Amino acid sequence: MATPYLSRITFNSVMVPVYAPAPIVPVRGQGSRVWDSDGRDYIDFTSGIAVTALGHSHPELVATLAQQAGQLWHASNVFTNLPILRLATRLTEATFADCAFFANSGAEANEAALKLARRVAFDRFGASAKKEKIVAFQQSFHGRTLFTVSVGGQQKYSDGFGPLPEGIAHVPFNDVEAARQLIDDGTCAVIVEPVQGEGGVIPASRDFLRALREACTQHEALLIFDEVQTGIGRTGTLFSYMGTGVTPDILTSAKALGNGLPIATMLTTREIASHFSAGTHGSTYGGNPLAAAVADKVVELVNTHSVLEGVRDRSKHVLASLRSINSRIGLFRELRAAGLLVGAELSESFAGKARQIMDVALDHGVMLLNAGPNVVRFAPALNIPYECLDEGFARLERALETQLPTLSTESASLAMPR
Ligand SMILES: *Cc1c(COP(=O)(O)O)cnc(C)c1O
Repeated sequence: MATPYLSRITFNSVMVPVYAPAPIVPVRGQGSRVWDSDGRDYIDFTSGIAVTALGHSHPELVATLAQQAGQLWHASNVFTNLPILRLATRLTEATFADCAFFANSGAEANEAALKLARRVAFDRFGASAKKEKIVAFQQSFHGRTLFTVSVGGQQKYSDGFGPLPEGIAHVPFNDVEAARQLIDDGTCAVIVEPVQGEGGVIPASRDFLRALREACTQHEALLIFDEVQTGIGRTGTLFSYMGTGVTPDILTSAKALGNGLPIATMLTTREIASHFSAGTHGSTYGGNPLAAAVADKVVELVNTHSVLEGVRDRSKHVLASLRSINSRIGLFRELRAAGLLVGAELSESFAGKARQIMDVALDHGVMLLNAGPNVVRFAPALNIPYECLDEGFARLERALETQLPTLSTESASLAMPR
């Protein structure tokens, strides 16, 4: 491992311990390569959890940011601003939506969507109808606010934070019958990730999404697609819904929208949006000119045939590389891909070792993610050069070859003390 370092000691003494950061500190990035504070280089297969979709220090984004930085950073939502109007126009022209709300994080975009869905049902049916149930799915992830951890389907994230918001029900993901049974006239919204990201890179089946759409229409509930992770080209279309044949009523997106500058959006129709009015919801930073200018450029650059086609081609290349590695080192029992969101589920003998595999890969110069204890996740930049992909997989294979024996047995010695 790199220097056993001052940064760990500093982290432990000055940071609230909600993260267990890796033992290196990235200080610079260029495209799909990152350098740490010791000058070592890494191939980035993470994009900062599907955020830096156009790579690090993209020249056009740097220029856009610098230009806006010299012009206007912030003026509050007491005023509108030109970059946000451009971005909203671009997003609505490209999607089913008529209008957009902006926030700073995925959780906040989902919070807005869930609040809006409750308000729509309240306005349409009255308080006495109690049309307030939110249907969500097991293993789903929707953010860390109290509402969104409660809606998310992983209890560990809401344990100990009660009392929690009420009126939320969970069913197994991709279970058409269970969902049909739970969605009824008392339901105001169904929220679903077209591909569960944090839950293990699990794509929703078309039949499942279609059934949710039908049930929502039948029971006058709103269908919310959480595209915080899948949006902005990640799965090979600008938004993942575009490849499913199912259109939601509300869509949220965040991670890649600002390529690292914090910005999120909630997209919806004019009619649904009209249930919010001035003062019912808002955000100080939401849609500030600095983030909006960058996001507008990100969407312009991503929403092109060449980038989106490039995602689909790279996806095949990633899968082929992983299959080839797996043919020599039987590590994975299943590979799942939605564009450049790829999950490799570990075989039985490596169960629970995703985090250790990340550590081993990092030590050999490649940055990976996990999605739960059993899935190694790959989310490289949408424009990652093929040479970088190949170099990253070569490094990964070397890492696995040398460390596999330690991984398959008890491997506590490999894990960094955290
Ligand atoms: C990351 C993520 C969120 C939360 O986004 P934050 O910006 O961390 O609040 C919500 N939903 C999905 C599907 C995500 O992947």
